[in-house]
Amino acid sequence: MKVTFRIDDVSLYMNWENFNYLVELFNKNSIKPLLGVIPDNKDPKLCRLTYNSGGWDEIVQLKERGWMIAQHGYKHLYLTKNPGILGINQYSEFAGIDYSTQYEMIAKGKKLLAQIGLASNIFMAPAHSYDTNTLIALKQLDFRYVTDGYSIFPYENNSLKFIPCQKSQPINGLVGLLTVCLHPNTMVSGDFEKLNKWIVGNPHKICDYSCALNYPSYGMLSKAIEKLVLSLRYVKKAVI
Ligand SMILES: [Zn+2]
Repeated sequence: MKVTFRIDDVSLYMNWENFNYLVELFNKNSIKPLLGVIPDNKDPKLCRLTYNSGGWDEIVQLKERGWMIAQHGYKHLYLTKNPGILGINQYSEFAGIDYSTQYEMIAKGKKLLAQIGLASNIFMAPAHSYDTNTLIALKQLDFRYVTDGYSIFPYENNSLKFIPCQKSQPINGLVGLLTVCLHPNTMVSGDFEKLNKWIVGNPHKICDYSCALNYPSYGMLSKAIEKLVLSLRYVKKAVI
């Protein structure tokens, strides 16, 4: 099994202290993760965090060092109560909205990121929520990858390569590709300690996100595993 990392909710408004801790930890261990950058953050919850006017320069520097960039939605505002294809959260920035509006939103976000030197062909949907219109718009806008899903291998869907994103802490598995999804805005000291310990103890299991993009797809098998994992999640929720 290979483990790769993504960092969510990157914008000028962040818990910069926590974010910088992750930057230091990954640099010290020569790990290059994926950064999910919100093009035009208007999420009231996130906009309460520390504003750093020079933040984009710092993110551009990380990109120049080999860190990967994903477009994390557009404004990070939840506009519908549609859970989307994965059905994980009951809210979405995109799922349930008509195609042309979604296209416009994603196109505007893409343009903003390109203007600040963070152009990307990887998409990260807020709340893991997207629908078929989102996928068609992404394809039309020349995206190639989506970081989402619960399989243990990447798979192709609508001519997009899905790199599954399954856990918020690393685990030791036998096969597949695990993406660990980190939220520095809400992480606490215990989370950092666990993460640090795992990274130091498992350097051979870690791969940069650029390598994760090239991990082979296992079409039908991978989708079947995802369906199974999602069904188990529904059962678990229903039982609890
Ligand atoms: Zn987010």
